[in-house]
Amino acid sequence: MVEDNASTAATAPVDFIRAIIEEDIATGKHAGRVATRFPPEPNGYLHIGHAKSICLNFGVAAERRGTCNLRFDDTNPTKEDVEYVEAIKEDVTWLGFEWSALFYASDYFERLYQFAVELIRESKSYVDSLTADEIREHRGSLTEPGRNSPYRDRSVEENLDLFARMRAGEFEDGGHVLRAKIDMASPNLNMRDPALYRIRHAPHHRTGDQWCIYPMYDFAHPLSDALEHITHSICTLEFEDHRPLYDWLVNNLIDGDRPQQIEFARLNLNYTVMSKRKLLQLVQQGHVSGWDDPRMPTISGLRRRGCTPESIRNFCSRIGVAKKENVIDVAQLEHSVREDLNRRVPRVMAVLRPLKVVLTNYPAGKVEEVDVINNPEDPAAGRRKVPFSRELYIEREDFREDPPKKFFRLSPGREVRLRCAYFIKCENVVKDAGGNIVELQCTYDPSTRGGDAPDGRRVKATLHWVSTVHAARAEVRLYDRLFSVEDPERAPEGKTFLDHLNPSSLEILRDCPVEPSLLTAAPGTRLQFERIGYFAVDPDSRSGSLVFNRTVSLRDTWARIAQKVDSA
Ligand code: ATP
Ligand code: MG
Repeated sequence: MVEDNASTAATAPVDFIRAIIEEDIATGKHAGRVATRFPPEPNGYLHIGHAKSICLNFGVAAERRGTCNLRFDDTNPTKEDVEYVEAIKEDVTWLGFEWSALFYASDYFERLYQFAVELIRESKSYVDSLTADEIREHRGSLTEPGRNSPYRDRSVEENLDLFARMRAGEFEDGGHVLRAKIDMASPNLNMRDPALYRIRHAPHHRTGDQWCIYPMYDFAHPLSDALEHITHSICTLEFEDHRPLYDWLVNNLIDGDRPQQIEFARLNLNYTVMSKRKLLQLVQQGHVSGWDDPRMPTISGLRRRGCTPESIRNFCSRIGVAKKENVIDVAQLEHSVREDLNRRVPRVMAVLRPLKVVLTNYPAGKVEEVDVINNPEDPAAGRRKVPFSRELYIEREDFREDPPKKFFRLSPGREVRLRCAYFIKCENVVKDAGGNIVELQCTYDPSTRGGDAPDGRRVKATLHWVSTVHAARAEVRLYDRLFSVEDPERAPEGKTFLDHLNPSSLEILRDCPVEPSLLTAAPGTRLQFERIGYFAVDPDSRSGSLVFNRTVSLRDTWARIAQKVDSA
C-alpha cells in the first residue's frame, strides 16, 4: 500500500489520532485491533478533502496491519446515484488504496430496522405524528429547552404497530417519524429526541422499491460501524456534537466491543469550494466541463489535470491531522505536485506563443539530430534526438526589440543559446505592414554545437525551440484558479460563490508547435514543457490532434504577483 508511511509504528505518533490508536493498542482496548472505514455518501465525486480522510483512514489501518472498509453511506435515495459509486471506487483505487471490504449502508437496512424495533420495545424510541414544522417548533433553541411531543408516551404496542405500518407504506411522506426518546431539555440539540427513520416513497439505487422508510444518517452510521466491528470511527469536526448520540445508540444496542468516534479538522483550501452541493452546481450550470474538469478540486479533476496520486498523498501527509480548523493555501498542493513531477517526468520542448526564427547562415534543407537529456533529475530516463533546422519557433516572450534592464533573453544584436543546439544572434527584425514582428533573422555559430562556445564566451539565456517543419501541433489548455478570491463562499449580500468565478480560469491556445516526439503521447502522459510548466495529455487528445493540460506552472506565479502587490 502506501510505502512511504507504512511503518511509523516504531516512532512517535505523528498526530493525535495516531496517538489515541497507540494508546488503545497499549491498553488492549478493542483487543488491540484497528478497524477503520471511509464512508462517502454517493451523492457526488470525491474531492481533495476526501483524500485527506482517505489517507488518514487507510493510512492508520495499514500502519497497524488493521483493516479499512469502503462503505457507501447510501441512506438518502433521492440524491444518490450509481455513477457516483463507480467514480468513488475508481478514485480511491487511483489514490493507491485497497479496501479490506466493500459495504453499503443499504446492505444493513433490515438489521437497522430490527435495531429500531429493539429501541421501541425498550421504550427508547417512539413514533411521532407531529408535522415537520411542529417538530421544529417543539425542539426549542440553544437558549430554550424543547417540549415533549404529545405522542411521546405512546405505548410500545402502538409504536410497534405504527412503525410496521410505516414500513408497509400505509402513510404519506412526513406522516410520521420514528424518534429516539432521550431528553427534550438536553443542552445538545442532537439529543432532543432526534429522528431515526423517516418516510420517503422513493426508489433506492440498490434496494429499488423494497423500502419506503429510510434511516437517518445519525442512526445508520454508528450502527453500520458496529456491524462492521469498526474500532475507530474517524470523522470531521462537525460531528463532534453528534458524538453523544453516536454513543447513546451503540451503548443501547451493541454488546461487547463498541466503536468510538474521533473527530478531526476537515481540509479547507483557498480559491476553491469543497461542498458537494456547490460542486454539483458548477457542473449542472456548465461553469465547468464536468466533475473531472481540471479546475475542479475533485480527485478526478486533479487526475485529469496531471497530478500524481503520490503528490496528493504527500500533500495530505504534509498538512497533517489536527483538531483545529484552518485554511490551507492551494500553493501547498501545487508545491507537492511540482516536487513530485520534477522527479519523475521527462522534459520536452513546446512553444506556446510562437515567433519564427530563420538562421540565415544555416543551410536550407539540412537537418541535425540534437541530443537531449530527458530528465536531469533521473539518469535512468535516458536521452532522445530532436530535429534542428534552418527555421525554428521560439517563444514570443523570449524576444524584446527594446529590452528592459533585466531582460537577458533575445534582442537585436544579442546572442543566446538554443537548448542543446547552438548560440544564435539576432541580426534583423522583420515586420509586417502593421508593424508587428513576424520573423527574426538570426545567425548561428557552428562552433557552438551542443550549446557551448569553445572560446569560453558566455550567454545569459537559454531558450527552448521547435523546428518549424518538424513541429507537431497541439492544443494547450492553461488552467488557473477557478475562483479569483481566497474565500469564494464569503460572498457579499445578494451574491453567491458563483459571482467570484475567475473569468480567465481557462485559456486555450491552439496550434502550438511542440517537438515531434510528442505526436504519439498517450492520454495521461505527464511531461515538463521546458521553462514553462508541467503538462499532461488530456483524454480528449488524439494522435494528430494533441491536447495538453497545464498541471502546474514551473514556479508559483501567484506568490510573485502577491509579492509585487505587497511591495507596491
Ligand atoms: P457535503 O459536501 O455534503 O458536506 P461530505 O463532504 O461530508 O458532504 P461525505 O461523503 O459524507 O461528504 O464524506 C465522506 C467522508 O469524508 C466523511 O467521513 C467526511 O467527514 C470526510 N470529509 C468530507 N469532507 C472533508 C474534508 N474537507 N476534509 C476531510 N475530510 C472530509
Ligand atoms: Mg457528510
